[in-house]
Amino acid sequence: MDVQTVPYNYTAAPDLLTDRTVLVTGAGDGIGRAAALAYAAHGATVILTGRTVEKLEATYDAIESAGGAQPAIVPLDLATAGEEEAAQLAAAIGGTFQRLDGLLHNASILGERRPLASASWKTWQDVMQVNVNSQFLLTRALLPLLEASSNASVIFTSSGVGRRGRAYWGAYAVSKFATEGLMQVLADELENTSDIRVNSLNPGATNTAMRRAAYPGEVPTDNPSPEAIMPAYLYLMGDDSAGITGTAFNAR
Ligand code: NDP
Repeated sequence: MDVQTVPYNYTAAPDLLTDRTVLVTGAGDGIGRAAALAYAAHGATVILTGRTVEKLEATYDAIESAGGAQPAIVPLDLATAGEEEAAQLAAAIGGTFQRLDGLLHNASILGERRPLASASWKTWQDVMQVNVNSQFLLTRALLPLLEASSNASVIFTSSGVGRRGRAYWGAYAVSKFATEGLMQVLADELENTSDIRVNSLNPGATNTAMRRAAYPGEVPTDNPSPEAIMPAYLYLMGDDSAGITGTAFNAR
């Protein structure tokens, strides 16, 4: 797989996302929270989705305190959301904003780190549901609103183990390969019929709860903070990446 890196030392203009409406899944913690704050700081109205309302409210408060545009909160548990919830989300966004300019598929679960030989079927299904199936459902429901925008951007979150499989990464690795596949199929379908661009982004090792769970022996602060990798998230969300689609990116 050909993997690109975001332009070296990319700096987003302060008004990169002015008048843009962007949805972030898993916006209450980790990279999703940092992305929501970064998008709002560059002018976007951010729709915060996630499963823990208190965490979404904390992100909301942080955006307001920083002077960003008033965000919206839509609680959504991707483990249980189906077609109906996806349709309700699209109706709510359509009713308020009439269009969607950006969609960051960020929420994921790690599942379990163990050999496939002893992997849990239930955990396998949960990981596929949250990391893959829900992304398809949300994307399909939100496509008409993305079509209503000019130059909308869809970002899928990948991982190193979604580009080269590694022992004991189980369903998580397979879900990230599927994420890359979803990105490629969608990008190819839209390339000649739409302005929507679709890319994947591997944040790389980042100091979040997920990373700390996956690597309990690491010194957490040896990895970059979520804030440190935001240039890549801004680059792919804003018009500086207009015209780039179907591409796998590393954040650094
Ligand atoms: P975190 O675990 O810190 O955050 C994940 C977010 O997803 C949380 O906000 C969480 O909500 C949300 N989420 C989990 N399950 C659901 C669900 N069922 N419904 C709705 N929201 C849910 O992870 P990171 O910030 O580290 O990861 C963000 C993305 O980056 C993921 O896609 C991950 O795979 C990817 N990634 C991360 C790397 C890293 O080193 N951190 C490396 C490579 C890829 P809640 O807080 O309520 O649990």
